[in-house]
Amino acid sequence: MVVYNFSAGPAVLPKEVLKKAQAEFLDYAGTGMSVMELSHRSKPFEDIIQSAEQLLRELMGIPDNYKVLFLQGGASTQFSMIPLNLALGKKAYYHVAGSWGKKAYTEAVLLSKTLPFEPILLASSEDSNFDHIPSFDASSIDPQAAYVHITTNNTIEGTAIYDLPDTKGVPIVADMSSNILAAQYRVADFGMIYAGAQKNIGPAGVTIVIIREDLINTTPALSSMLDYKIQADNESLYNTPPTFGIYMAKLVFEHVKSLGGVVKMAELNRHKSGLLYDYIDRSAFYQNPVKNPADRSVANIPFTTPSPELDKLFCQEAESQGFVNIKGHRSVGGMRASLYNAFPLEGVEALLNFMKEFEDKHGH
Ligand SMILES: *Cc1c(COP(=O)(O)O)cnc(C)c1O
Repeated sequence: MVVYNFSAGPAVLPKEVLKKAQAEFLDYAGTGMSVMELSHRSKPFEDIIQSAEQLLRELMGIPDNYKVLFLQGGASTQFSMIPLNLALGKKAYYHVAGSWGKKAYTEAVLLSKTLPFEPILLASSEDSNFDHIPSFDASSIDPQAAYVHITTNNTIEGTAIYDLPDTKGVPIVADMSSNILAAQYRVADFGMIYAGAQKNIGPAGVTIVIIREDLINTTPALSSMLDYKIQADNESLYNTPPTFGIYMAKLVFEHVKSLGGVVKMAELNRHKSGLLYDYIDRSAFYQNPVKNPADRSVANIPFTTPSPELDKLFCQEAESQGFVNIKGHRSVGGMRASLYNAFPLEGVEALLNFMKEFEDKHGH
């Protein structure tokens, strides 16, 4: 049976990449060792991490005055590292349009109880279960603030920001975990971008940080591991980095480049998600909770049937036919199709057929 993996993360990876990793698994580039067995200070690994960085710079058009870091601790550790390194003595704004953005804000509030900075909730759509991207009045922003934190793609709720808000020149810090390399952004429009790798890049365990050099702290942060300056000065090799994950990320970057880069990925993703949105919008049976088309994510598409009982049945029948991990997040309910870069178009077409059959069977 063909399996289509709709998981929101860790998520589907390109088959070609997995095969390449398999072929090199026992003997990487004639070393007689697996990548996992290489010293992180060896020449072969140095080549891997350097070309991973180079490829990411090419794919995202990262300007020279930005550092690229490969860290650990997931996107969630960035929720603390960001205020710790960037916000001390300042205000820091949080635009909260989803559960992950709320976590970032909550973490900042927690830190501000012991450290001198002021996290401010700039806008939130929590009152309506994060079903839209909230707007805010830019004139309320203090231009001296450290940053405005946003989440470019709300993985759980299925919304996204494609046109960046006016922040009165205050640097935007963006959690791009679920649409990095899947939608086009200009890196120069951000002060910092970060992402856990497990959605669009590679296996869990690698966290990408792209940070403008002038924002890197000059005074030491509380701990070396949480200090961007130390991580940057040591080129992500302050301690042992997640070597195998970085290698997998490099293979994914090569693959995305070979397919035509982020422009091509963004186009394919719009096409894939467009098929599903169109079908849902035309159907009286299925619903998408995000009503404003401009707010809709091309990466994560939540949808429901007319009842929680039918949702449950949908997930069961889908699973038995190879559509796995399609159950929605418990906070939203229903289903969620995560259509990341590596998710094939055929999988969307097969899902649409399944959805039609399910509606025919249960819709009357
Ligand atoms: C998955 C996700 C996270 C959490 O990432 P971890 O690497 O598990 O810490 C944070 N933000 C967004 C937008 C996500 O999708």
